[in-house]
Amino acid sequence: MPKLPQRFSLDGRKALVTGASRGLGVTICDVLSAAGADIVAVARSEADMAETRRIVEGHGRQCLTVVADLSDPTVPDAVAKTVTAAWGGVDIVVNNAGVSFPRPLVEQTVEEWDTVQAINLRAPWLLARAFAPGMIERKRGKIVNISSQASSVALIDHGAYVASKAGLNGLTKVMTAEWAAHNIQANAICPTVVWTPMGERVWSVGNKLEKLLEKIPAGRVATPEDVADTVLYLASDASSMVNGQEIFVDGGYTAL
Ligand code: NAP
Repeated sequence: MPKLPQRFSLDGRKALVTGASRGLGVTICDVLSAAGADIVAVARSEADMAETRRIVEGHGRQCLTVVADLSDPTVPDAVAKTVTAAWGGVDIVVNNAGVSFPRPLVEQTVEEWDTVQAINLRAPWLLARAFAPGMIERKRGKIVNISSQASSVALIDHGAYVASKAGLNGLTKVMTAEWAAHNIQANAICPTVVWTPMGERVWSVGNKLEKLLEKIPAGRVATPEDVADTVLYLASDASSMVNGQEIFVDGGYTAL
C-alpha cells in the first residue's frame, strides 16, 4: 500500500469488524490492517475466517477471530467480554455483518423479518453499547455502520432489509448525538450494489443487473475496495469532524 498521510494511518489502533468471513468484511479487514490496525474478526464460521487471518497477518498485524452468531441478543456482550479480556477493548467498531431474504412484502415471513432486524439493526446497537463505555473512558472511538443505498430509496422485494438499513441510519445519528462529546464519531456508509456473494446472489438473476446499471451514472456497481476505502477514512483521524453522516458510495445513483 502506498505511504498514507499520518492522519489516515491506523497504526496502533484495534478494529473490530463483523461479517469478516467473506465479501465486504474481508476487504475491510485487508484495508484497515494494511493501514496499520490489528483486527478482531467476527463471524459464525471460524474456518471461513482463516483467509481473513492470513491477509491481516500478511500485513504484519494481529488477528483475533471470534466466532459469534449476532442474531442472538446475548452474543454482542459476550464478544465484548472476550475482546476486552484479550486486548483491553477496541478503538474502531465496523458493524458490517448483514443479511437479506429477498421476497415481496406479502410473502415475507415474520421469522425472516425478525432475523434481518436482529442482525442488521439490533446487533450494531448492542455491539456499540458494549464497546462505547471503553471508548468514552479513553476519550476516542470510531463506529462505522455499513448501511445501504436501500436505506433511502425503495428496493423491491427488500422490505425488511430497507427498514433495517433506514433504522441503522437513524441509530447512527443517535450514537453521534449521545457520544460526540466524548470524541466518538459514528457514521453510516450507504453503498449501492457491491459485487460480493450477497450482491451476486441477489443481482445475477435475469436482467436485474442490467436494469440497475441504467440507474447508476457511474455505469458500474461498487467494488468491495470502493467501500473499504471509505471505511478507512471514517475509521481514521482524517474524519474527526465527520459525525452522524450517511456517506453514499453509489456512483451517483441517489443524485438523480
Ligand atoms: P455477504 O457476502 O453475504 O457476507 C455477510 C457476512 O455477514 C458474512 O461474513 C457472514 O459470516 C456475516 N453474517 C451473516 N449472518 C451472521 C450472523 N448471524 N452472525 C454473525 N455474522 C453473520 O454480504 P456482503 O455483501 O459482504 O455485505 C456486507 C454488508 O454490506 C451487509 O451489511 C450488507 O447489508 C451491506 N451491503 C451490501 C451490498 C451488496 O450489494 N453486497 C450493498 C449495500 C450494502 P458467516 O456466514 O460466517 O456468519
